[in-house]
Amino acid sequence: MRDFYEVLGVERNADSRAIKSAYRKLAQKYHPDRNPGDKEAEEKFKEAAEAYAVLGDANKRARYDRFGHEATSRGGFDPTIFADFSDILGDIFGFGGGGRRGGRRPSRGADLRYDLRLSFEEAAFGTETKLRLPRREACDQCRGSGSAGGAPPATCQTCGGRGQVRVQQSFFTMAQTCPHCRGEGSRIVDPCSACSGEGQVVRERELEVSIPAGVDRGSRLRLSGEGEHGRHGGPAGDLYVVLEVDPHPRLRREGAEVASEEELSYAQAVLGCSIDVETLHGVEKLEVPPGTSPGKLFRLKGKGIERLDRRGRGDHLVQIRLKVPKPRDLDGEQLELLHKLAALEGVAVREGGVLHKVKELITGG
Ligand SMILES: [Zn+2]
Ligand SMILES: [Zn+2]
Repeated sequence: MRDFYEVLGVERNADSRAIKSAYRKLAQKYHPDRNPGDKEAEEKFKEAAEAYAVLGDANKRARYDRFGHEATSRGGFDPTIFADFSDILGDIFGFGGGGRRGGRRPSRGADLRYDLRLSFEEAAFGTETKLRLPRREACDQCRGSGSAGGAPPATCQTCGGRGQVRVQQSFFTMAQTCPHCRGEGSRIVDPCSACSGEGQVVRERELEVSIPAGVDRGSRLRLSGEGEHGRHGGPAGDLYVVLEVDPHPRLRREGAEVASEEELSYAQAVLGCSIDVETLHGVEKLEVPPGTSPGKLFRLKGKGIERLDRRGRGDHLVQIRLKVPKPRDLDGEQLELLHKLAALEGVAVREGGVLHKVKELITGG
């Protein structure tokens, strides 16, 4: 995920006014109404909205500054990140003049976000899982109209159907969302009892999601149309499932490649050996040639993780480490052999905590 400050193009110490202004420019530039069918603009628009949802809120910004993305994407269901864009935009376009037009025109439902934790293996091999999450859906009782008897809504008297009222503030006249009809331009005469005239109710539901093999930490899955229902016949928003992956006790991961460490004894490293390596796909034999240095990497082809583009699997990398035992963990024979080895190599080693050569000097001198 990109840095939110970078997304908005502001300095880290920018004040709230500069942040709002930067977001306003991006939102106007990439607004879906101005870029119909442009996927890239849509992504940019959402990215900017996501950044602003955090940096535009003093508390969330402070947490983000301290903890980064972690702070804003911790477990469970968090609808605030993908807050209803129209709220932010209503605020922003209220000044710019583009504005929210009155009337019950169709509007797209808000996008939702769900943070999902996977085990290392689930991410590697893919999984099927069930999510439980609430979303706004059309009210069954009034079929989304909000009206109990099905009577059409009446024009709002306060704003004359425009959905906005003009408010004088010192020298400026500003357009504000009509408080009476909340910008709808009309009001329900006989509100539906199930949804209080909203036309929508919040319902919790279960959703089956298939997670493809090879996903990683930070991967985002978009489930088209699984966000909140739109209003007045508008399309539903999307659901974004953002993935977090638990670490593995033994394996590390870099994209489709998996890495592990194997410890060899000095004798194994010098003379060569055959070792068993536990990979995601079972135990593999690795032939270690004589004279292998610590740090050496071996590659088990195709024993890593499936690539998301389905172009085969990554490799499993084995890094060799040298096991260096403490003298107290060795038996007498092993110690004796080591001293013999040192003598043959002509190097000085400690004996009982004292350097061998130093002792010789004293006794000999
Ligand atoms: Zn209803
Ligand atoms: Zn009104």
